[in-house]
Amino acid sequence: MSGLPTAQGTTHAHTSVVDFPMFTGGEWADSLSGRRFVSNDPYNGKAWASFPSAGAEDVDRAVRAARRAFRDQWRRTTGAERAALMRGLADLIARNVEELAFAESIDNGKLVREMRGQVESLPSYFTYFAGLAETNRGASIQPEKSNFFVTTRQEPVGVVAAITAWNSPLLLLTWKLAPALAAGCTFVVKPSEHASASTVRLARLVKEAGFPDGVFNVLTGGPETGQALVEHPGINKIAFTGSTATGRSVMRAAAENITRVSLELGGKSPNIVFDDADLDGAINGAISGIFAAGGQTCMAGSRLFVQEKSVRVVSEALAERARSLVIGDPLLAETELGPLAFSAQLDKVMGYIRAGTDEGVDLLCGGRRPDRADLADGLFVEPTVFGSVRNHHRIAQEEIFGPVASIIPFSTEEEVVEMANDIPYGLASAVWTNDIRRANRVAAALDAGTVWINAFRTVSPAVPLGGFKASGIGRENGTEALASYTETKAVWTELSGVSRDPFRLG
Ligand code: NAD
Repeated sequence: MSGLPTAQGTTHAHTSVVDFPMFTGGEWADSLSGRRFVSNDPYNGKAWASFPSAGAEDVDRAVRAARRAFRDQWRRTTGAERAALMRGLADLIARNVEELAFAESIDNGKLVREMRGQVESLPSYFTYFAGLAETNRGASIQPEKSNFFVTTRQEPVGVVAAITAWNSPLLLLTWKLAPALAAGCTFVVKPSEHASASTVRLARLVKEAGFPDGVFNVLTGGPETGQALVEHPGINKIAFTGSTATGRSVMRAAAENITRVSLELGGKSPNIVFDDADLDGAINGAISGIFAAGGQTCMAGSRLFVQEKSVRVVSEALAERARSLVIGDPLLAETELGPLAFSAQLDKVMGYIRAGTDEGVDLLCGGRRPDRADLADGLFVEPTVFGSVRNHHRIAQEEIFGPVASIIPFSTEEEVVEMANDIPYGLASAVWTNDIRRANRVAAALDAGTVWINAFRTVSPAVPLGGFKASGIGRENGTEALASYTETKAVWTELSGVSRDPFRLG
């Protein structure tokens, strides 16, 4: 494979399928078996790109390249050297936002305005973690033994295997890659088979930025490729984002080699609106929580708890806004809701809508595929709002990953906290109220890795993100993320030169 196709994937009008390579050991590569798979454009259902289907032998080749780069080069670099390369990569990403954002939008059908916003934010993650690479340090400890002096060193954990979901490919990758590079780890990523293009395109920028060969490797493929990667004994840490079911399987595979693991998994986030809230702001937050990204986001505010007196006004406003959302081509600036990413995803969402109506829940709006000829080839579903949902209904308990809101009425603070926590997930949450005491009481009581007060769906390189309960293990972003790519090593120095009883623990 000679290189990466350029200037393609910025329109739906593909004359031919674009053939992408993988990237291992600093070289563009095909799979050793020659097998490939195809990715469809969810707006028109047409095949638009093909990728190598990496087998176990390709995984081995990439992991070996990453191990060599780790052993011979990357672990020996200083934090300042790594930071300089990371800042260079940040600049290159900033200059290539459109290409990366369009590739994501065509691959996964999410609005280009959403993907552009995400790609524009990526440089801030690389520069934040570049700063941490320069300032990361161990400790010096004077233990109770006066003849010893101890220092700690933060060593890179080694070769990282990253596996990402299709909904925000480069953002999810960056949340892993930036701290891993800062720590001195080398990296093999397998993006989702439903959205691999932007990750392969990022490899070109990594190469251009001057990172040593083998520091960053991209394998393309589906679950079998992911499985071979997480089972490889040359991997020291797995950083996974995907569904809770796959996360379980990844954790089982990790147990075999005692591979470190961080998991960013599913969610079913409560978005809680009290009667004393600024309701316009809360309704805006509810829209952002469930209709932005077509609800295809781990932190979707899919459970909208509304206090009794506000149920009618919030339900009507949400349904009205849902009916007026501009559904269409995700590449157009005015579009507010694009297609779902692939057909199994559409079937899943329609199945949950049926489950809601079968359980007798009030369907306030949506619930069907739009009846428009221009959308007939795309994987579209109407924005859907269910009212009077009970917390035990399936649509209130299971992750739908689509534009489907469940409004659950409540009366008291105690009741809503109990319902919000009565679920296996614990990723994100929000509380809307003008009572600062209540806001902080509820924030403290919620089982969730993130609580937004009078806001929804905001993230930052400096702020840890991750899940309680079945939503995951570990945190991305913030200093916690850097720590998760390092091992702490204690170095003991004997100061007296006196020999001691060799049969006692000193
Ligand atoms: P998925 O679990 O189907 O796939 C995720 C990735 O795992 C893909 O790259 C896939 O090829 C790979 N994979 C599948 N089986 C594997 C196996 N046995 N071993 C190793 N890898 C395997 O998830 P998805 O449909 O791509 O993504 C949607 C899910 O991701 C949702 O549940 C969503 O909540 C979650 N998600 C979580 C976060 C977060 O930060 N917590 C962010 C985005 C998405």
